[in-house]
Formats: sequence, C-alpha cells, structure tokens
Amino acid sequence: MAALVEPVVGGIDPLTPVPHRVVAVDRETSDVVTLTLDPLSEVLVPALPGQFVMVWAFGVGEIPVSVSGVDDAGRFALTVRAVGPVSNAVVAARPGDTLGARGPYGTAWPIADAKDRDVLVVAGGLGLAPLRTAIDELGGGGPRRLTVVVGAREPDQVLFTADQRRWRDLGVDVQITVDAASWRWDGAVGTATDVVARLGAAHDIAFVCGPELMMTSAARAAIAQGTDPANVWVSLERNMHCGIAHCGRCQLGALLLCRDGAVVRWDRVVELLRERGR
Ligand SMILES: Cc1cc2nc3c(=O)[nH]c(=O)nc-3n(C[C@H](O)[C@H](O)[C@H](O)COP(=O)(O)OP(=O)(O)OC[C@H]3O[C@@H](n4cnc5c(N)ncnc54)[C@H](O)[C@@H]3O)c2cc1C
Repeated sequence: MAALVEPVVGGIDPLTPVPHRVVAVDRETSDVVTLTLDPLSEVLVPALPGQFVMVWAFGVGEIPVSVSGVDDAGRFALTVRAVGPVSNAVVAARPGDTLGARGPYGTAWPIADAKDRDVLVVAGGLGLAPLRTAIDELGGGGPRRLTVVVGAREPDQVLFTADQRRWRDLGVDVQITVDAASWRWDGAVGTATDVVARLGAAHDIAFVCGPELMMTSAARAAIAQGTDPANVWVSLERNMHCGIAHCGRCQLGALLLCRDGAVVRWDRVVELLRERGR
C-alpha cells in the first residue's frame, strides 16, 4: 500500500518546518507587515515568483503565505495581513523571534513566457505580494513593455510604494488606483479592472492576483482588450493544510491548488470558478 505521507528522505520530513529567525519587520499598512526570515538550518530551495511557503507560528498553527521577496543569502520576505489566530501571531513576530517555514510549494508565474512581449500585471490589495518578485524579475529586462496596475481600497492601503518608485525608474508603467480617496490623494479613483478596461491595448500575457471577484473581472477585462485567455494567469487561494497534495483541502475540480496552483491558467479554471459561484 502506498504511504500516505512521503517517507523521511535524507533526514528531512516534508511536514517538518525549518526554524527561521525573523531578521526584519517592516510595517506596510495598519494590519500588514513584511517579515524577512533567515533560515537557521537547512536552506529551503529559493522560491520562484508566485510560490508560497507554509509558515508555522509555534504553538498556534500553520498557514500558507506567498514569498514576496528573496535574496542571494537564502533569506526571504513574507507580507502578511493579520486576519485570524495564525496570521496575527505571524504579524506580531519581532526581530529575533523564530518562525517555522517549509516549502516552497506550488506553481510560479511563467516569467520565461513574458520575454520580448507586452506584459500586463494586475494586483488588487495584498495580491501585489505574490507578484512583487515577478515584477522585480520582469522589470530588470525581458518584456518589450511592462504595465503594472495596482488597486487598493484606500491610499494608505497601497503596498510597496518604494518598490513602485524603483519599478518606474526601470521604465515600468505603474498605475495606481484606489476605491475611495481622501482629499490628499491626487491619483486615480476606481477599481483596477476600470484601469485595465481603459488601457486600450491588448497585452500578450497577463498576470492577475487579488480577491477572487477582482481577479475574475480584471482577467475578463484583459481578455476583452484582446489578450488570449490561454495567456492570462491568476493566483487562486484556497484553505491549505499539508501543502504537498496529500490532504485534499485545497481541491478545485481535478486540481489540488497547493500543487497545481496557486498560479493557474485562466482558461483552465474559469468554468470551475463559475460552477463554484452557482
Ligand atoms: C497560496 C496562498 C498564498 C497566500 N499568501 C498570503 C500572503 O502572501 N499574505 C497573507 O496575508 N495571506 C496569504 N494567504 C492567506 C493566508 O493563508 C490566510 O490569511 C491565513 O490562512 C488565515 O489564517 P488565520 O489562522 O490567521 O485566520 P483564520 O481563522 O483561518 O481566518 C480568519 C478570517 O480570514 C479569512 N481567511 C482565511 N484565509 C483566507 C484567504 N486565503 N483569503 C481571504 N480570507 C481568508 C477567513 O475566512 C476568516 O474570516 C495565502 C493563502 C494561500 C492559499
């Protein structure tokens, strides 16, 4: 009979978290922080853009979190919103504290397919976190043209403003929009989908991440502008438990999203999402 859990290979159990030291905590918004983690023992394989890790707050629990930054020394960043017990414990971590992490898991944004092409990246809210390393890679050269549309609820919810300046300096067309503005805001007001619908140009490939309704409408807007549905990619979040395609918690149709996602091709999931919405 096949084992339910992979046997321990080379002394590493796939479900055992690797301890990491928190080396920096940067506040992004009132309830979102970016933590930089440094591995204390085995270095995890560096995450590709769009992949996630399972993060342990010891004594509280474990949650999936996208990798929002990587460096050459094996350190990586996680950008987390406090919504419940585990994410609150992660957000409360301070430099010097220890968290567990295992992974990275899942699929990645198809960066190689973006070479010499017109690329559209659309992020809603915290959806910018799994796209950040993709934009870093793409902004360094590759695409013919790179347009990044960022939507946030309010101006003080816009993430990674320093990165956005850096991306603009690299020639990336970064467009920010907010749902509701204060009098101090002189940028666009409206949804990221509104901005995509006004771009007036087809893109060869689109990467979209955010709340599911926003992703659905932004993907449709990109397709309406002429992007081939087979070149639209989204990142789907489902409750995940094992992260290694054993428990089935994250099943969507025939997909186990911890293995076959979170980054998936739009035309492969659009019917599944429609079924679920009925
Ligand atoms: C592949 C993947 C990548 C993720 N990346 C990130 C990330 O980069 N940063 C980040 O902050 N979070 C991310 N999440 C979401 C994160 O895993 C959840 O916020 C976390 O599991 C909540 O656990 P909790 O114990 O804190 O709260 P819970 O008690 O589990 O939930 C508290 C509240 O949050 C809601 N909630 C739980 N999970 C989600 C979710 N996935 N989306 C929206 N609402 C949710 C619940 O319905 C409930 O209302 C990701 C999830 C997945 C599947």
